[in-house]
Amino acid sequence: MKELSVIHSAVKPSATLAVNTKFKQMKADGIPVVGFGAGEPDFDTPDHIKEAAVKAIWDGQTKYTPTSGTMEVRKAIAYRVKEDLGVEYEPDAIVVSNGAKACLYAVMFTLLNPGDEVILPAPYWVSYSEMVAMNRGVPVIVHATEEQSFKITPEQLEAAITDKTKALVLNNPSNPTGMIYTREELKALCDVCVKHDLYIISDEIYYRLCYDGREFVSAASLGEEIYKHCILINGVSKSYSMTGWRCGFAAFGDKRIAKVMTNCLSHAMGSIGAMNQAAMAEALLGPQDSVAAMRDVFEARRDYLVERMNAIEGVSCLKPDGAFYVMMNIEKLIGRTLAGRVIRDADDFAMAFLEGGLVAVVSCCAFGAPNFVRWTYATSMETIREGLDRLERFLQEN
Ligand code: PMP
Repeated sequence: MKELSVIHSAVKPSATLAVNTKFKQMKADGIPVVGFGAGEPDFDTPDHIKEAAVKAIWDGQTKYTPTSGTMEVRKAIAYRVKEDLGVEYEPDAIVVSNGAKACLYAVMFTLLNPGDEVILPAPYWVSYSEMVAMNRGVPVIVHATEEQSFKITPEQLEAAITDKTKALVLNNPSNPTGMIYTREELKALCDVCVKHDLYIISDEIYYRLCYDGREFVSAASLGEEIYKHCILINGVSKSYSMTGWRCGFAAFGDKRIAKVMTNCLSHAMGSIGAMNQAAMAEALLGPQDSVAAMRDVFEARRDYLVERMNAIEGVSCLKPDGAFYVMMNIEKLIGRTLAGRVIRDADDFAMAFLEGGLVAVVSCCAFGAPNFVRWTYATSMETIREGLDRLERFLQEN
């Protein structure tokens, strides 16, 4: 048999999904594990959104739609973006696809030529680097330490730029760190991008989950030149608890990109389901109270998790500003033996904790942060309490 694509054969399975799969298998086998792996809200999709999808089906919205999405859904996106972020996009500057993930992937294939470099601030969401590589680009990692609150500086960005740099990916609020760039920090990074004519791929999927009364600032709102260079990525998965509906969008300051991306998608996958688009439109236009209610629950869970984690000997964490993840620092555990395993990095810890403590967390080795594991608090308070009890016991008994 002939070889498969060398580039695609080198793609690793998503580390976050791998943990989740193993956790589900253990659970199915009757082992009482608790999981902090999956990056999806534990709430159900609000009823009015489900009803919109059902109505769309009975109304006959069961056919192909334009590749970039129905006019209805693109207008709904334009409305919500203007309302929440203060920026304007025409419907033909917006492309809807299978979640923010597919949008990001499509943006990469639309922008990149072989060898183009894309700067990824680390710790980063694991799919970015693979998406760049799958599209024959080169991920360039810029590390942000815990001391710098996991945020890169304009100087670090400037130092990473070469003739080949095409874009910077910003994820604000961040998965996995939960950190949020302030208006000034964001503007300083975007100014560097404009100066070097780089695209700013701004993944703002967690924008509704900002805590302590923090204001969310979209990169696209920071001035005309930044807007032109900005590619806004967003969707309804996290804000409206709609991960399974696969509805995301990209909005472009430069409409050329929307056109090329739509042409490619028309051959590669076409639109997303018509009824899912109707649900997305309802999410964006309908009542917004469930969004704030879910955010408040996440905030209370974060407070509990952070306080207890920092009281446990051997581990620590920063208090995240947004999203629903906590980065647990395990530096002090390196070199120790836990559950019969010598801990050299977060991969070892995650395995030892799953096998010996029956708790699934995500190693951040694949995120560019080998001394950290990620906990999600998109799970019930009861589970969080149990997970921390187990962590305490695990560290005491080993
Ligand atoms: N960006 C980030 C930073 C994410 O964490 C995720 C989901 N884990 C996505 C994008 C993808 O979201 P969607 O479900 O809309 O594809």
